[in-house]
Amino acid sequence: YSSNKSKKVSDNVKVVVRCRPLNEKEKMMAHKQAVAVDEIRGTITVNKLEMTSEPPKTFTFDTVFGPDSKQLDVYNLTARPIIDSVLEGYNGTIFAYGQTGTGKTFTMEGVRAVPELRGIIPNSFAHVFGHIAKAEGDTRFLVRVSYLEIYNEEVRDLLGKDQMQRLEVKERPDVGVYIKDLSGYVVNNADDMDRIMTLGHKNRSVGATNMNEHSSRSHAIFTITIECSEKGVDGDQHVRMGKLHLVDLAGSERQGKTGATGQRLKEATKINLSLSTLGNVISALVDGKSTHVPYRNSKLTRLLQDSLGGNSKTMMCANIGPADYNYDETISTLRYANRAKNIKNKARINEDPKDALLRQFQKEIEDLKKKLEEGEEISGSDGSGSDDMDEGEHEVGEGGRKKVSPDKMVEMQAKIEEERKALEAKLDMEEEERNKARAELEKREKDLLKAQQEHHLLLEKLSALEKRVIVGGVDLLAKAEEQEKLLEESNDELEERRKRAEQLRRELEEKEVEMKRLDIEEKYTSLQEEAQGKTKKLKKVWTMLMAAKSEMADLQQEHHREIEGLLENIRQLSRELRLQMLIIDNFIPQEYQVYIYTRAHALSVKKI
Ligand code: ADP
Ligand code: MG
Repeated sequence: YSSNKSKKVSDNVKVVVRCRPLNEKEKMMAHKQAVAVDEIRGTITVNKLEMTSEPPKTFTFDTVFGPDSKQLDVYNLTARPIIDSVLEGYNGTIFAYGQTGTGKTFTMEGVRAVPELRGIIPNSFAHVFGHIAKAEGDTRFLVRVSYLEIYNEEVRDLLGKDQMQRLEVKERPDVGVYIKDLSGYVVNNADDMDRIMTLGHKNRSVGATNMNEHSSRSHAIFTITIECSEKGVDGDQHVRMGKLHLVDLAGSERQGKTGATGQRLKEATKINLSLSTLGNVISALVDGKSTHVPYRNSKLTRLLQDSLGGNSKTMMCANIGPADYNYDETISTLRYANRAKNIKNKARINEDPKDALLRQFQKEIEDLKKKLEEGEEISGSDGSGSDDMDEGEHEVGEGGRKKVSPDKMVEMQAKIEEERKALEAKLDMEEEERNKARAELEKREKDLLKAQQEHHLLLEKLSALEKRVIVGGVDLLAKAEEQEKLLEESNDELEERRKRAEQLRRELEEKEVEMKRLDIEEKYTSLQEEAQGKTKKLKKVWTMLMAAKSEMADLQQEHHREIEGLLENIRQLSRELRLQMLIIDNFIPQEYQVYIYTRAHALSVKKI
């Protein structure tokens, strides 16, 4: 079991591309299909239709999805392996990236009311609880979710009570980066999760003046934390914890270059900050020379630091539109995605992490059970019901209070009844004495009742706690069962198709090799034929040259834009720095500044 601890899996960020179909509006306006998807070869080819001299551009990815792709296939091919890893205790992240209107939300959430059209998030619910339902009976699970949004560099808890509240991003050496006061809901089944998602959705639109603009400029992060406790070979219980981030990013289209000035410009750069920092982080990670990765420059990259270049299995789905008028954005998205392929992550199983709740819950449950078994304290100073108690069976507390087990309480109740009857039946008794005896019985009854109530409260607390921890092998799917079946079936079918596609790909490659061989071996029978052949070759090489040239121009442009973005970032940061310095100089006396400086320095040195 302990061998898991050292098991580190190093692999690249998986990048897939999905192209949506032309929509009705685009068809009506007679926009042309500029994107060709070859699912077998894993390539995307983009044509610039209005300028014929520009050669088509081709990009290759792990997996590509054409306009007719099915949600279930997208899930099984891309998300399934990541969710399987999270169930083992790895961290996982799934990003949807792309221009607004290209299908990010469709891919992540889909149409939740139609089983075949559900996206990655609802399908992962069914997958997670399907797995738990099939687990061994002695495995315990705790599943929590949270849902947040980053808009204008402010973090909002989409499941929080107060939607006006902005949350702080904090860091602690033992648990890393986290969000203070973010609510986490413990969920017991897929339907619970679905309800929580609906709640988050409702809150997403709260405070948004323009929902379309808001959702295209905000990042939504749905996080599922799965803890699983099992007995290891060492005989102890071990908790493994996997965190899954499902991220619907803001639209990647360029903003702020539309002549905005002053306050509007400032807002625009802030809105872009998380996304442009994400781009800078990716660039820094893949260029191999950067010693500094600017994770800390934005909320998004701080929160998802592990997802890029860290302890996580990560997948990015780049969404593109098929129409020719989106050419520039499509190319830019494909380049971005192409770069992200080179990010290397190192994922490991998170074993017995500091912030695990499962063990804490299990301990509380055990303590409660013990307490319940021991029973409740009842005042025993009056000697009531104590004669028939065995010595040592119950602890005697302060002031003669004794612990009484639930069984005993029932007995005591019966005894009180009995004594009361006997008392009423006794004829030779002074009224005063009888009243005294009655009062005493009443007091005993009241004490007993109080103890019973306390016992009941503890029982309720126990049952509430127990409900949060899920026992493996129990059927939890309820309505989601169908979805899980659907997913599994389509996964089996997919396996078949994958084999066939592999076969096709091999045949295709063989044919291509054969053709090339023929091409090379071609003997020219006459000079004229030779000239023709060479012209053809020349044309081919010429096209290649043109393609390379246009690629270079594109890259230069892209590079230029990136530099511009970085410069803007620097300007923004220096402005902020100047402001902070101004505040410090005006409000903090010089000697305190020195004190703070040395203290801060000492602390940061100590931490290192
Ligand atoms: P984004 O979140 O990237 O802005 P959406 O997911 O909202 O884009 O998609 C825009 C529109 O296109 C929606 O009406 C959505 O239903 C539709 N759409 C997106 N992808 C597909 C697809 N693969 N198949 C069918 N319709 C799609
Ligand atoms: Mg969207």
